[in-house]
Amino acid sequence: MRPRTRPNRRRILAYRNGYLKSEPWWTRRAAYCADRVRELGHELACMCCGGRITARTAHIHHLSYRAVTRDMDGNWVAGEADNDLLEMCATCHITLHRIFTTNASMRTKGRRGATIAAIRIIRRTLHINNKDNHE
Ligand SMILES: [Zn+2]
Ligand SMILES: [Zn+2]
Repeated sequence: MRPRTRPNRRRILAYRNGYLKSEPWWTRRAAYCADRVRELGHELACMCCGGRITARTAHIHHLSYRAVTRDMDGNWVAGEADNDLLEMCATCHITLHRIFTTNASMRTKGRRGATIAAIRIIRRTLHINNKDNHE
C-alpha cells in the first residue's frame, strides 16, 4: 500500500478544470449511472437524502481519484470502479464538500472515510436514519 498523501492543489484543479470536463469522464459517468439504475431496479436517488435525481442532474462524487490517470499523450483515462463513485443531488454534494473543508476531523479520515462520515452528518441533520435504505 502506498502511503496516503493529500492531493495537492494543482492536482485538484486539474481534476476540476480538466478531468471533470473531459469526454472520458462523461462517458464513464453515463456508464456508471446506467449501472446504478440496473442495480437499483429503479431511477437514481441521492445517496444522502434519497431525493430524486436523473443521470443528467446527478452529481457524481469521487470516493477516490486513484484510478484516474493520463495516457502517454496526456489524455485522461477514466479507470474508476463503480465503488469509487457515489451519486448525489447537487445540494447534498455541495454540503458534503463544505463539511470536508470546514470540519477539521474530516482531514484525518481519508477521502472514503470522510465521505461516509459527512453523509452521516447530512442524514442526521435531515433526520434520515442511517440504515442503508438503498440496498
Ligand atoms: Zn441529496
Ligand atoms: Zn464530490
